[in-house]
Amino acid sequence: MTRHATALTIAGSDSGGGAGIQADLKTFSALGVYGTSAITAITAQNTRGVFAVEGVSPVVIGAQIAAVLDDIPPQAIKIGMLASSEIVAAVAEAITGYTGPVVLDPVMIAKSGDALLARDAEAALIEWLLPRADVLTPNLPEAARLLHRSPACDAHETEAQGRALLGLGARAVVMKGGHAAGPTCIDRLVTASGVTAFEQPRIATRNTHGTGCSLSSAIAAELARGAGVEQAVRRAQAWLHGAIRAADGLGIGGGHGPVHH
Ligand code: PLP
Repeated sequence: MTRHATALTIAGSDSGGGAGIQADLKTFSALGVYGTSAITAITAQNTRGVFAVEGVSPVVIGAQIAAVLDDIPPQAIKIGMLASSEIVAAVAEAITGYTGPVVLDPVMIAKSGDALLARDAEAALIEWLLPRADVLTPNLPEAARLLHRSPACDAHETEAQGRALLGLGARAVVMKGGHAAGPTCIDRLVTASGVTAFEQPRIATRNTHGTGCSLSSAIAAELARGAGVEQAVRRAQAWLHGAIRAADGLGIGGGHGPVHH
């Protein structure tokens, strides 16, 4: 009997269904992986914005993770929205004994501009979780904020910031290029052995809500299925490109709609 690949997402709930836990589980399903979840925060949200955020108690977050690890051990974990330093600490503690790959998406600010991580939790994220990340997936503003620098605006600085994040303990960094200008979208995988660029034509759409969540969970799904890091990033980026291309056909909500999982 072949055991089905499983992946755990530790992230926030998006009531609008486009980002967070909901995007992660849809992505896992789309890529043939059984998804489990530990919810860190509940957001009241739709395609137009975030209207309320409440963190789940650290004890209940730890209990969700322990329950999953005990009975449905994942072949990869994805970590997304963490909301506060107490939640960062609870997650770091709960995954202490986990030896599989961890994909860390340093979620800070939603596309709507709403804060998803308290300012005072950034240091906790750097100290307790960055060193646990086999793959860190910042967009350019998040990378800059983690490093207290200005967002990179060329390839040289993007790669330099990727290497600086390796210096903080991540084993690999995907510098997501979606926020940069240009006719193509270039994600750069930075590891100790060098830089690999993954390029796709830029798609003109406002329906990009949850793209970051979906990319990091697609990488986790590919790792759970046994891919190496470079292959996982390549496949995840190609899959997300198709999901963004199909997004306008969904017609969900009046703001920044979701991608088509
Ligand atoms: N809501 C939740 C719960 C999230 O985890 C994320 C992830 O980044 C977002 C919203 C932000 O989504 P976006 O910035 O793609 O709109």
